[in-house]
Amino acid sequence: MEVSIFIAQIMENFEIHKFGGTTTGSLQGLKRIAEIVEQSQNIPVLVVSAIAGMTDLLTEIVENISEELIPHYVEAIIAKHNELSPRNLKLNKQFLKKVDQLRRVLYGICYTQELSGTLRDLVLSFGEQLVVFVIADVLEEHVTERSIHIIYPEDMLVTNGDVGRALIDLEKSAPRLQEKIKHILHSHTNPVIVIPGFYGVSEEGKITLFGRSGTDYSASAIANLLDSSFLTIWKDVSGFMSVDPRIVPEAIRIPELSYEEASELSHFGAKILHHRAVLPAREKGIPILIRNIQNPEKMTIIQKQATIRAGQIIKSITLMKGMAILKFYNTSGGSEKGIFFQLAKSVASCGIEIISIATSQTCISFLVRKAELEPNLKTIETQIKNIVDDIQIKSDVALIACVGEQLASTPGIAYKVFGAVSSRDVNVEMISAGASSTALHFTVNEDDVEQAVNAIHSAFMKTNEPFLKIHGK
Ligand code: ASP
Ligand code: MG
Repeated sequence: MEVSIFIAQIMENFEIHKFGGTTTGSLQGLKRIAEIVEQSQNIPVLVVSAIAGMTDLLTEIVENISEELIPHYVEAIIAKHNELSPRNLKLNKQFLKKVDQLRRVLYGICYTQELSGTLRDLVLSFGEQLVVFVIADVLEEHVTERSIHIIYPEDMLVTNGDVGRALIDLEKSAPRLQEKIKHILHSHTNPVIVIPGFYGVSEEGKITLFGRSGTDYSASAIANLLDSSFLTIWKDVSGFMSVDPRIVPEAIRIPELSYEEASELSHFGAKILHHRAVLPAREKGIPILIRNIQNPEKMTIIQKQATIRAGQIIKSITLMKGMAILKFYNTSGGSEKGIFFQLAKSVASCGIEIISIATSQTCISFLVRKAELEPNLKTIETQIKNIVDDIQIKSDVALIACVGEQLASTPGIAYKVFGAVSSRDVNVEMISAGASSTALHFTVNEDDVEQAVNAIHSAFMKTNEPFLKIHGK
């Protein structure tokens, strides 16, 4: 039988669960993973993040590498994983072999004093490469009736090779994952599959990362590739909130979001999901459930349609601090052919993400992260000095985004938002509305952002939660 036909027949049986670092990095979280696998009536596929703090530790190691420190760091990494594992990982040959690979890569970087983006991606991927040994031990110990299988992204998740922020090529990955699954199902009736998140491989076989929190994106891609009925992203919070509760204590949980709304919120800084995580699931209409691992009844469901309640047109507000506006002035401005393309190309070639754009006849403004802009400013100036008259930077800016499906089609929303902001004497600078019918965003001075967000929140939010309905695929 052809692989794709075979897979189509059993597809419905997959349950994709994503577990983040706070879950894989605590004994209590690991216990919950075992419980969730035990309760599953289907074939659980677990996509896992490195234990909490591991990616940060690996980043610290590559940034401060020295021959004397490597053995200490490597010992610390072994100890951290071993503490969490119910079995002795120091006796696990495969685990030790992986650690040895990491050790060699680190010495290589140390001796050559060369740290390319590709090598950095490789080192950082070890958090996910190693955590699967802990998960496998936990499952071996607690879930006796299932056979445990690890599938590595190296063998199936193909990326476009973009270092540090790669995209997954779903079409190329599909047959590879399906082949692996077929192989497992051929000889096992009750498997559980574990997949490290956060990275895939380029066509040349180089490990490339999806950016911080990238396991959400891995899990969504796996859900797409296996056409699962649901994707569950387990967290230590209960889903999306109407605003960051550290800034507005009255923040409420949002039980339902459309794909559109969740995409905009994650693009504009909501930390709950990786900014690309919605797309692969959305392509197949797979509902994403964001659930609290210690309190699973509380969740946000992301799906095609989300219930909209009267008076709750703005569902959630996000903010991003540490932004800068990069302003290019040119007297002939927009009428000069190709100028926009050249500016965007220069900025993008420095690895700077353009979060938003506003243009006028004499000025083109890009909203970017200050930390990405600063080290590259000189390069941009040199590249484009012949096509603009002047460049100006406005730093210490924060972005505020208001998100809700019917925002653009409801009269008076902008009036109400800006009315609330100005009632606190806060000045609004760059505004963008209409590019998406789901988001309205603008910038204010960084010092004013909390005031502004509080004002909008109290103008729009009602505290009673709408009725929750899962529409399914
Ligand atoms: N371990 C990676 C990070 O900390 C990826 C993830 O957690 O999703 O960013
Ligand atoms: Mg994480």
